[in-house]
Amino acid sequence: MLRKFLLQASIRRNFTASSSSFVFLRQCSSSSSSSSQIPNGHFVEHLENSAESPPSATISIDRTALYNPPEHSHEPSAESELVKNLKNIIKFRGGPITVAEYMEEVLTNPKAGYYINRDVFGADGDFITSPEVSQMFGEMIGVWAMCLWEQMGKPNKVNLVELGPGRGTLLADLLRGASKFKNFTDSLHIHMIECSPALQKLQYENLKCTTEDGADENEKRINSTIAESPVSWHAMLEQVPTGLPTIIIAHEFFDALPLHQFQKASRGWCEKMVDITENSSFRFVLSPQPTPATLYLMKRFKWAETEEIARLSHIEVCPKAIDLTQEISKRIAIDGGGALIIDYGVNGIVSNSLQAIRKHKFVDILDNPGSADLSAYVDFAAIRHSAEEVPGASVHGPMTQSQFLGSLGINFRVEALLDNCTEEQAESLRTGYWRLVGEGEAPFWEGPDDQTPIGMGTRYLAMAIVNQKQCVPAPFQ
Ligand code: SAH
Repeated sequence: MLRKFLLQASIRRNFTASSSSFVFLRQCSSSSSSSSQIPNGHFVEHLENSAESPPSATISIDRTALYNPPEHSHEPSAESELVKNLKNIIKFRGGPITVAEYMEEVLTNPKAGYYINRDVFGADGDFITSPEVSQMFGEMIGVWAMCLWEQMGKPNKVNLVELGPGRGTLLADLLRGASKFKNFTDSLHIHMIECSPALQKLQYENLKCTTEDGADENEKRINSTIAESPVSWHAMLEQVPTGLPTIIIAHEFFDALPLHQFQKASRGWCEKMVDITENSSFRFVLSPQPTPATLYLMKRFKWAETEEIARLSHIEVCPKAIDLTQEISKRIAIDGGGALIIDYGVNGIVSNSLQAIRKHKFVDILDNPGSADLSAYVDFAAIRHSAEEVPGASVHGPMTQSQFLGSLGINFRVEALLDNCTEEQAESLRTGYWRLVGEGEAPFWEGPDDQTPIGMGTRYLAMAIVNQKQCVPAPFQ
């Protein structure tokens, strides 16, 4: 099945140039790990009682090769609606808000959130993701989904859910790649979980959707003409109808979920909060007493070794990731099927990884909120523990993206594509392949040094959650 897919899958979307032009991955560190320029480093000046302990060694993001942004843009500028909104929340609250509240508001405020009104991906956006790097990424996820569907006994109806589909590129490549496997594509009902109307529109276009009138007057039926599969959009997973076996894909979704940051102070672990100064700019402060999110910090501590906690002075905890993992696991335990989570992260506690990226450069987290992406490393150990608490679900991995794509046969796929393309397309395919499975800077790169593609092979991890009745999913055996 695997080999057949890799050689036979429909050839390709139009070759894109994105993999060779300069674009920035959200996780863009090279293999070395000194963190000499921490964009949000200035906050320490504003914190009371900050701990003297040295920065954690768990997460280190090498930003040395990056443009060094000003700490704040001090030029007078009209306040955006989002900035006004954040300040109002802090004023009416009568005190600072958590980093999670800040992040949620900045990314997904229904009117002015970062994701809501624009296409943020690619050379003209702020960063690039694997599906945009190469068609092979979506195709290999398709291989994974088909293998799982076979293991599930080839059900003739399946919910295929994608959380945070971005431009819809991953699913478009998955469907195009799988379109010769009619039994599989005919079984699919696609569900897109997307908060952004602008991105929903792009997804509709990229999946080549058409809309028809349904049985009753107000009902509309949307189909992706790539594989003739019905598609629907939802704001959250719980809105997807239950009762069918389900395949869930979450690629670079967990890293955008709002998280809480804690810092060790002389009085113990304090939550980092966002406040406004007298001159009306944002700053970080530490909570004077325990906050409600401390309960999640305690839960996270239970899953860690004492030594792991002892060496840290900063910790990030993501309650939404814990809750979402449990929701996914329950769905799969009841309805059958499995989920695939791929993201940049570590298999342990995450220390201080929240970052802001605008136009392919790291910027200050508090600078002009809503105009830059905010994301953080994913704590795969917390995901594993959260899923293991749900009876009927079993967890596999994490393994590196390189192992994952390699074991699924990306080498055969790239060879099949290289057999049938122009020299320019071959260059784009090779660069894309390197970025997906390589580590560090591409050895074959002949372009300008500051544009050397950085491999995503080891910084991105893959994890699967499947119904316990099923055998171990490929390629986690
Ligand atoms: N998976 C895509 C995009 C990753 S960016 C890719 O790899 O290219 C994160 C995506 O999740 C965007 O589509 C964003 O609009 C969506 N998103 C972020 N937070 C969300 C939330 N709370 N609910 C629904 N969608 C969300």
